[in-house]
Amino acid sequence: MDAINTQVTFNQLISELSSRLINSEPAETYECIEEVIEAFGSYAGADRCYVFEFDDAVVNMTNTHEWVRDGFEAHIDDLQSVGIDDLPWFFNEIKTHQLFIVNDVELLPPEADAEKQEFRREHIKSVICVGIVAKHQLLGFVGCDRVQKKHRWTPEEVRCLKLVANIIANTLERQRTYAELIHTQRELEKANRLLHAQVSQDGLTGIANRRAFDERIHNEIQRSMREQSALSLLIIDIDHFKHYNDHYGHLQGDQALKGVANALFDLFQRNTDFVARYGGEEFVAVISATDRKKTEDSINHLLESVRALQIPHETSGIAPYLTVSVGGYIHSPETDEDIDALAEKMIAKADSALYRAKSDGRNRGCLDY
Ligand code: GH3
Ligand code: MG
Ligand code: MG
Repeated sequence: MDAINTQVTFNQLISELSSRLINSEPAETYECIEEVIEAFGSYAGADRCYVFEFDDAVVNMTNTHEWVRDGFEAHIDDLQSVGIDDLPWFFNEIKTHQLFIVNDVELLPPEADAEKQEFRREHIKSVICVGIVAKHQLLGFVGCDRVQKKHRWTPEEVRCLKLVANIIANTLERQRTYAELIHTQRELEKANRLLHAQVSQDGLTGIANRRAFDERIHNEIQRSMREQSALSLLIIDIDHFKHYNDHYGHLQGDQALKGVANALFDLFQRNTDFVARYGGEEFVAVISATDRKKTEDSINHLLESVRALQIPHETSGIAPYLTVSVGGYIHSPETDEDIDALAEKMIAKADSALYRAKSDGRNRGCLDY
């Protein structure tokens, strides 16, 4: 009667634990496995019950969970990363039969001498282990020891331990799938960030491209509406760049474009500033939370920093080195302005200011407001 009661209690407990495991979050899983092995240990009158997992290469095994009856010695700490070659006979049994039953350690065959030594070290008299197998892969094993007295393992105990191994196998498999999923998700996010950076970047100069500018100008208009602050848009165009290409060649023209892009990028470093290649030999800059004076200063700085590059331009007719002209527009948006329309208007206004700077002699800036 007692045996039947014990069996019923165990079955109930295992059934409860397996439904908890099915619904468990990864963090709770560890605790559940501890409870499963404790349930089996108590049921089988064992002194110690444990789970070992193999590493991916199946070279080492590590004791990941251990339950020990009160008053008995724990071994989890000295059983981390144990080479499976240290216990070849045991490993072969688990691999071939997914089962290792020893009723009396002293009766182990001579081939199992290494195992006998290890069991003696842990004062084990009887031991049983069952392989943890998921998707035809041996992940580890669950086992238990009798330390005080020898024990003849019953078929019912073997059946129950197989059940436990099965529950743990499903749980570990789910954990691994979950970890793989998280890993895949991270990789995807990384790839997406990279892709986003690529589609927003100008191939030649490495600074932001027009697509990134379109996105940015919208955000900055929204911000300046929210914060009720002024926003400036500058269009920067290299002077007589056609002559430059004709005289120095297209490749050197590319180098000059990179040089100007770098100088502009260095200048507009502030978090709220932004610079992009708008196309050809034109660049755009967005300056947020600004005013007329600050914008004029920025225009003068940028004219100066392009001059300071001293890129020779013999056929410019303006100066012996490369220069730019700048058209700017500064505006404080009303809260109810249409963003698309305003973005277009700012570009058109900056463009006509640029036209004026060009017709006034180039190598200068014009700011509208
Ligand atoms: P302006 O002072 O009126 O701006 O005269 P400009 O010659 O700079 O203007 P125009 O629009 O006539 O010519 C622009 C030149 O920029 C023509 C084109 O070959 C050159 N260009 C555009 N994109 C690139 C590029 O990616 N690399 C090189 N090397 N040249 C480019
Ligand atoms: Mg141009
Ligand atoms: Mg030009």
